[in-house]
Amino acid sequence: MLLNPVISKLSGKLVVLASASPRRLEILSNAGLRFEVVPSWFKETLDKSLFKSPYDYAVETAKQKALEVAHRMPFVSCLYLYTVDGLILEKPTDKQDAYRMLSRLSGKEHSVFTGVAIVLCHDKSSDTDYKVVDFYEETKVKFAELSEEMLWEYINSGEPMDKAGGYGIQALGGMLVEYVKGDFLNVVGFPLNHFCKQLGLIFNSPPESPAHKIKRESDEAWSLVNSLSEGAANGEVELLENGKDVSQSSMQEQIVIGPECSRQDIPHSIVSLLDGFKASKTLFTASKLKVFDVLNSSNSLTLEEVAGQINASVLGTERLLEAAVSLGLLERVKQQNTSVYRNTEQASRFLVSESPESLNGYILHCNDMVWPLFSHLENAVREGTSQHELAFGKKNEDVFQDAYYSKDEVKIRFMDAMHSIARVTGKDVATAFDLSPYKTACDIGGCTGAMAYEFTKAHPGLSVIVFDLPQVIEMRRHFQPKEADDRVSFVAGDFFKDDLPKADLYILARILHDWSDEKLDVLLSKLSKMCTPGCGLLVSEILLDEERKSPSRALLQALSMTEGKQRSPTEYSDLLQKHGFTLKHINHTDNLLDAMLFVKEDPNDRRTLLGCSSASIETAELE
Ligand code: SAM
Repeated sequence: MLLNPVISKLSGKLVVLASASPRRLEILSNAGLRFEVVPSWFKETLDKSLFKSPYDYAVETAKQKALEVAHRMPFVSCLYLYTVDGLILEKPTDKQDAYRMLSRLSGKEHSVFTGVAIVLCHDKSSDTDYKVVDFYEETKVKFAELSEEMLWEYINSGEPMDKAGGYGIQALGGMLVEYVKGDFLNVVGFPLNHFCKQLGLIFNSPPESPAHKIKRESDEAWSLVNSLSEGAANGEVELLENGKDVSQSSMQEQIVIGPECSRQDIPHSIVSLLDGFKASKTLFTASKLKVFDVLNSSNSLTLEEVAGQINASVLGTERLLEAAVSLGLLERVKQQNTSVYRNTEQASRFLVSESPESLNGYILHCNDMVWPLFSHLENAVREGTSQHELAFGKKNEDVFQDAYYSKDEVKIRFMDAMHSIARVTGKDVATAFDLSPYKTACDIGGCTGAMAYEFTKAHPGLSVIVFDLPQVIEMRRHFQPKEADDRVSFVAGDFFKDDLPKADLYILARILHDWSDEKLDVLLSKLSKMCTPGCGLLVSEILLDEERKSPSRALLQALSMTEGKQRSPTEYSDLLQKHGFTLKHINHTDNLLDAMLFVKEDPNDRRTLLGCSSASIETAELE
């Protein structure tokens, strides 16, 4: 009775989940909530030691993640709700780590906390006004005494890997649990009951009583909007409560619900889409003119100083800076009666070209390469292919060889784009699975090696060969890290024509979506021949949901593709099953790329031959 009135109040509004954890998607869609998924880019790097309790940490992380999405996708006169759970016990890094975590839970009661943050966003004439409602839910879980044999049997099932706290209560891990006190769904991943009660309070609040007063006075949340603080340490938190070992395990998640339009007759989400291209081009132009770089080197500058340094008109620069402030990319503050501009925390981290996590390379690629293609989208739709010839005056059969690599300047820009995304996502992809069985990997189409270096950093026993076209390999030194790991080596070749290096794990990061099924058959048959049973194949792509409705990032990217397509886990699994690879694990990383781990099956093993790919999806561990 509580739920339906709330859900019906949300109908007609856009609901955005800021991460793609399938368990939460399932819980919320079962509750009748319709939503879009927009993963947050905020990294979970708050210093846990600064928080009084694990739930404070969880709630704070929720807010930061939620606000990041709100800033990135600012709707006018809207309401957003975000939910986050706090990760206190990390995911086990390997079997020993899983053993360490689970043996500590054995025979004891522990608590699972989920922090939820709801951000309400209103337009106040020229400024957007954010208010935050937050809460947490605690559920106690008691583990049975686990014998060594049970522990190892569970660990060897593979289930604990990639699970925060090392167990999944909704599957095999349920057998370890003696009792649960509180909301079971909270342990699975989302405190639905508490969430609905909060929604009820928000929607039933009289307009004069601001929703942010419902539970926690969030005055501090106000200041958070302006100061997205960042911590550093990533340690584990342990509490002793009533003499019991209380370990907190939960997973990160956030929900954005919006827009809640103050005027129901105005299509706010359409209006913000109408302006979306202007916002993108503002970001591109500020990056191209090096606004973030000049502000980084001087900390803060007046309008005239910025205009001078970027060599642009004062009027034009003022318009650009003001637009960037409105998008949350820059801040304007008063210093001794003068207005000065400076980078926001996010801009310093992701937009300054020298920052280790800079997206600058990718932004310039979007500006110079993707933007012109999108300006011919009508033709692309009519003809069913990208418009390189119209946009750049050159036909292309193979987008890499004919378009990206035809000129050194374009090639370096493309490589820089790949490099920047790989540096931001590489760690999450590299640590998505237990790769300890593998000693040698080959990163097919590994470009600058940025992803390969993340793999060697994460797996001390692994060496990685980067295989890419000769034109790319010859430029690799431009992108070599200062302290290059000699476990990364480079081999030049064409993956459609040449022999591939031998390895026991192959990595295909952002390769499969680019090619037609026919071309992929050539590459995958070759890979299949190289792989003996047990060999791994790690695919990293943006995974579509099974209904092919989200994330839009993947579907929008497809609009300018020459060939190829975006796929869901089942579609990737079907593609690879044909070549003898069975899906074992999926990890929705919450970062820009997800990951899937396939294993080459023994063709003589009747059981594996009989397993169809949709069955393998069901048995694959979904994170
Ligand atoms: N895997 C990298 C990553 O995720 O950062 C780069 C992905 S990029 C979309 C595709 C890569 O495949 C490029 O580095 C490109 O040079 C490489 N590539 C394209 N065609 C190739 C071919 N025929 N043989 C080898 N590499 C190729």
